[in-house]
Amino acid sequence: MILEVRAVAPFYKNGFVVGCERTRDAIMIDPGDEADQLVDAARQYSLTVRYVLLTHAHVDHITGVALAKSACQAPVYLHKDDLPFYDRAVQQGQMFGLVVEQPPPVDKFYDGSPILFGDYEVHIHHTPGHCPGGVCLEIRAVGEGGRGEGEGRKGREGTHLFVGDTLFAGSIGRTDLPGGNYDVLMRSITEVLIPLGEDAIVHPGHGPDTTIGRERKTNPFVAEYLASKHG
Ligand SMILES: [Zn+2]
Ligand SMILES: [Zn+2]
Repeated sequence: MILEVRAVAPFYKNGFVVGCERTRDAIMIDPGDEADQLVDAARQYSLTVRYVLLTHAHVDHITGVALAKSACQAPVYLHKDDLPFYDRAVQQGQMFGLVVEQPPPVDKFYDGSPILFGDYEVHIHHTPGHCPGGVCLEIRAVGEGGRGEGEGRKGREGTHLFVGDTLFAGSIGRTDLPGGNYDVLMRSITEVLIPLGEDAIVHPGHGPDTTIGRERKTNPFVAEYLASKHG
């Protein structure tokens, strides 16, 4: 798997290009202000970006959609519950004192079916809480089958999770923005993400990578939530 990440001021939000090393098909995730660098990275690796996939529609994750879409001629995917945020990109920008142009219309809403690029497939998990239409993108090689511990498929590509602002290394997404909900977020993390397997590599929307295992064992917010639930 080819994986390139870029982040620039003011948000330092991670944008990703994920490509198949064999067929050179690729996806772009959350193009923001670093979108030109993502387009360059795709060119450098001779990748053809087939889809622009959004984890959610907060403004930092969508300011590069117009550039990405026109450079790559690829359709833009979003969860339908975040469309109200997407449609208010200009107003979201104003909240940060930024001039933001309205991005081009969303082409498709996630419908539960996997998205394929080259030898890889993307499974979409709805993980609300940071915002209503937040999703996590689970990417693994076609035919690698499943969830779980990764035993028996050592040496092969593992599972990669692009979690947007749901989970960070040592932290969690904020829930004080419109449509945010702490309990919903914690259920998304503990009931949707953690079952995807200890070895799954987590690529948050901001900051460094982590793994599900590390967050399950050491993330203080996850520990506090699980302790409160169990009593
Ligand atoms: Zn966000
Ligand atoms: Zn963000």
